Amino acid sequence: MRNVQAPGTQKEHTMEIRITKTTQPKSKPDPATLSFGTVFSDHMFLMEYDGAEGWHDARIVPYAPIPLAPAAAVFHYGAEVFEGLKAYRTAEGKIQMFRPMENLKRMSDSAERITLPQFDQEFVLEAMRQLVELDQDWVPNAPGTSLYIRPFLFATDPDLSLHGISHAVFCIITSPVGSYYKEGINPVRIMIETEDVRAVRGGTGYAKCGGNYAAANRAGARAEKLGFSQVLWLDGVERKYIEEVGSMNVMFKIAGTVVTPKLTGSVLPGITRKSCIALLKEWGIPVEERLLSVDELVAAMRAGTLEEAFGCGTAAVVSPIGELHYGDVSVTVNGGAVGPVTQRLYDEITGIQSGKIADTHGWIYHV
Ligand SMILES: *Cc1c(COP(=O)(O)O)cnc(C)c1O
Repeated sequence: MRNVQAPGTQKEHTMEIRITKTTQPKSKPDPATLSFGTVFSDHMFLMEYDGAEGWHDARIVPYAPIPLAPAAAVFHYGAEVFEGLKAYRTAEGKIQMFRPMENLKRMSDSAERITLPQFDQEFVLEAMRQLVELDQDWVPNAPGTSLYIRPFLFATDPDLSLHGISHAVFCIITSPVGSYYKEGINPVRIMIETEDVRAVRGGTGYAKCGGNYAAANRAGARAEKLGFSQVLWLDGVERKYIEEVGSMNVMFKIAGTVVTPKLTGSVLPGITRKSCIALLKEWGIPVEERLLSVDELVAAMRAGTLEEAFGCGTAAVVSPIGELHYGDVSVTVNGGAVGPVTQRLYDEITGIQSGKIADTHGWIYHV
């Protein structure tokens, strides 16, 4: 597919965001019952792209369905990328985001991979800020809650021929979400997936695109049926190297060193992963980004040198792995309890996000 770029991609710099407020504000959900991604705030951001005009018609409007042609490319060829980040309310009532430009840079890389049009990242950050500001009452304030922000970009060409993308929509919706851990951090049971693969080198593994999730569905459903929360993905070529856990990056503390799969192209470059690596380095805890084979992991499991294992991503921050299964090998990690490094990363990152811990890294963006 060929990408038709906007003649003037700087145009949106001067683009104004038109705001139409809802006349029917919804009632806010009870913060105690919040789950993930089921309730949406009053407004959304939209802008449209076509090859001749570039991005145009930026607007914040009431949250509502988006009319699309049945032939729209997104329905047939999966041309879609997305992001996920959160706005947090501090104890003083201020609203802040965690490393939002990292999300927009990654979204730009994702869009490039599947030839969706590029966009002005600073402009989208400003759109996100204005949307959250308008819906600020939707940012919950109970501990662990936040307003999840979901930017997404998809092709709308009403055309079944595969001749490049020249029409697209950029949308941002937001959703108040509850604490991932309602009763404290609980370690989960994980199964190493040996049949399906999530991504391959040269494919779209590093891009945050909807198709990757479609490819992962079957293994996830199978694992759930067997009583596991997630699968641990192996690489698509040799089925030998560990890549990710569910839709999170993964880290293992083996004999004192934290090992995480290196970014080979089939691993999503997580912002939580990057933040964990930075903190571990600052704390003087050895951390290695490298290939980690399942054989090495099983050997560590058997030798008792696997000290901690956890997934990391925006939704949970860290998710400790309490039990790992590979064929008929099964081990409990750290006695099924949360390890000290896992806990420390969780406390530090959630502390910075919620404003309890001072931001010394420039990771916080004030709304
Ligand atoms: C989003 C995502 C992650 C985590 O990325 P964060 O930036 O830390 O939220 C990890 N793996 C996959 C497959 C993802 O889609």
